[in-house]
Amino acid sequence: MNSLDTQLRADLEARQQADLYRRRRVLASPQGARVRIDGGLNTSLENQIESPQCCNFSSNDYLGLANHPEVIAAFQAAANIYGVGSGASHLISGHSREHHALEEELAEFTGRQRALLFSTGYMANVGVLNALAGSGDLLLEDRLNHASLLDGGFLCRAQFERYPHGDLSAVQDHLNSGNYRRKFIATDGVFSMDGDVAPLPALAELAETAGAALMVDDAHGFGVLGKHGGGVVEQLGLSAQQVPILMGTLGKAFGTFGAFVAGSDTLIETLIQFGRTYIYTTALPPAIAAATRASLKLVQSEPGRREKLNALIARFRAGAAQLDIPLTTSSTAIQPVMIGDDQRVSELGQILLDQGFWVGAIRPPTVPSGGARLRITLTAGHSDADVDGLLSALHSALRETR
Ligand SMILES: *Cc1c(COP(=O)(O)O)cnc(C)c1O
Repeated sequence: MNSLDTQLRADLEARQQADLYRRRRVLASPQGARVRIDGGLNTSLENQIESPQCCNFSSNDYLGLANHPEVIAAFQAAANIYGVGSGASHLISGHSREHHALEEELAEFTGRQRALLFSTGYMANVGVLNALAGSGDLLLEDRLNHASLLDGGFLCRAQFERYPHGDLSAVQDHLNSGNYRRKFIATDGVFSMDGDVAPLPALAELAETAGAALMVDDAHGFGVLGKHGGGVVEQLGLSAQQVPILMGTLGKAFGTFGAFVAGSDTLIETLIQFGRTYIYTTALPPAIAAATRASLKLVQSEPGRREKLNALIARFRAGAAQLDIPLTTSSTAIQPVMIGDDQRVSELGQILLDQGFWVGAIRPPTVPSGGARLRITLTAGHSDADVDGLLSALHSALRETR
């Protein structure tokens, strides 16, 4: 081995020793409540045994739209018209009618003047923070924010402070300190590993008092929360003035791919002019935008998906309480079971998978040290029996590994 590989190997081995090594499982079916995964790790595709279906509690496809026939049909029809690749960035020649129409529909749906598509949520967050916050500015973020918001903060030239999770008095202290050109608070709406909702009304009030702008990343609320699926801002009744920068992703509840930022005309023009992750990257395939337009129609016209999901969340929580399975206070589709021990989480993940239930076994550094957990996500595609089956498997797995 050359010397770089020798060094890298040491880091990989350390991660393995610490029970923190990550492996990808190969999906052999569409995303959904039931999936087929690899028959063996690190084997070539040809050598894999077709594994039986398992029940999937580890996706963010909350409404079961990733494999919906109308979404697929819209994707196929647009591919026939526009082809596959967009061929260029939005500012060069890649901005198609489908992108444009989706932006207008998202602006209307979110009740904002305009919306701007980004190729991924990661890029939206990094791009927004770097376009808006620079030297002489203050940026405050919750410690448990998604990596993309945190990375946006590390990359930008603003004074960047992370406050303890949900700690409003820490936010207030920071807002009162020093003289800044602009001040920003950026937070997940629904925290991706914990499922809890940020104290947005209080943050909006603090922001307003201090003349700061609040940015909400609603990756896990958009499409799911609120009567019409408008997300956490709809659920909490927050106006465009209270949350001037709203970011949502399309690869989760919408079942497609990409992300958007919604806000004022001035905000969107600023992002088009100064958002480097908007400007210097290839536009999403137009067919993805067309598929997302179909998803948006379903999100709006089929509230039953949200109702079903909420009923399943309630069923899961009630069942867990009966079986003494410790849950957090999360009321969203993200239901973590806190374990703490990294190795036990891996074991639990494997035991559950052997019984046909795939759940996320989440370990540091995705979560803070000591915060290893099973991250169970419910979707509208699950049945009552799926949830009951998971609960009983979970109950015995927790005993087995005690
Ligand atoms: C998934 C996620 C993102 C990133 O979105 P992608 O489109 O997958 O890049 C950003 N923020 C949060 C809170 C997320 O959960």
